Amino acid sequence: MSDWADRRDALVDQLTSRETLGSETVAAMRAVPRHRFVPEGKRQAAYADTPLPIGAGQTISAPHMVAIMTNLLELAEGVRVLEIGTGCGYHAAVTAEVVGPENVYSVEYHDDLARQARETLARTGYGAVSVRAGDGKRGWPDHAPYDRAYLTCAAPEFPKAVVDQLAPGGILLAPLGERRQTLVRAQKRDDGSLARGEHGHVRFVPLR
Ligand code: SAH
Repeated sequence: MSDWADRRDALVDQLTSRETLGSETVAAMRAVPRHRFVPEGKRQAAYADTPLPIGAGQTISAPHMVAIMTNLLELAEGVRVLEIGTGCGYHAAVTAEVVGPENVYSVEYHDDLARQARETLARTGYGAVSVRAGDGKRGWPDHAPYDRAYLTCAAPEFPKAVVDQLAPGGILLAPLGERRQTLVRAQKRDDGSLARGEHGHVRFVPLR
C-alpha cells in the first residue's frame, strides 16, 4: 500500500517541478489512488505520467493534464462542477477532492464505463459523485446551474447546452478542435458571452 503512495508522491514531485500548481491541485493529486482507477493489467504504469487505455477504446488522461486542468478551473470547496467524459472516474475523483464529491456531476457516453466508474468511485471513497450514462453534449440540466464545466474529450466548440447550464461568472474548459486541439478556458460574462483564453495544444479522444 505505502509503495503505491510513495510512487504517487514521486510522480507529484515530478509534476510540481515542471508545472506551477496550486496547493489544492497538489493535495488532490497526492490523495487520489490512480492505480485503483486503471485496469488491473495496467496498474504498474499508474504512476507514470502517461495516458492509459481503460476499455471501450478510451483512455485515462495523463496525470499532468489532469493537474493542469484542475488548476485552470480554479476549483474550491463547495464549487459545483459538471464533467463531460467520466471515463474511469479518476479525473472526477481529483475534482471531488477539491470541491467535495457531492458537488461533482459527470456524464459518460458509454454505459459500461459509467457503471464501472460509479463502482470505483464508491470503493475509493468518492461515492457521492453523481455519474450518468448519456450524451454529454446535452449537459445535465437537472442539476444546473454549474459554477464550472469541463470536457475530457475534444469537441469542435463548447456544446451549447453546457454553456447554457453554466452560471454567470462560471468557467468552462475543453480541448477544442479536430486532430490538433487547443485547450480553451472561457469565463461566462453576465450577458452570456464568453471571454476566452488559450492554454496550449493537447490531444484528447473525440466527443461523440
Ligand atoms: N476523465 C476521464 C478521461 C476519459 S477519456 C478519466 O479520468 O478517465 C474521455 C471520455 O469521454 C471517454 O470515456 C468517452 O467515452 C467520453 N465521451 C466521448 N463522447 C462523449 C459524449 N458525447 N458524452 C459523454 N461522454 C463522452
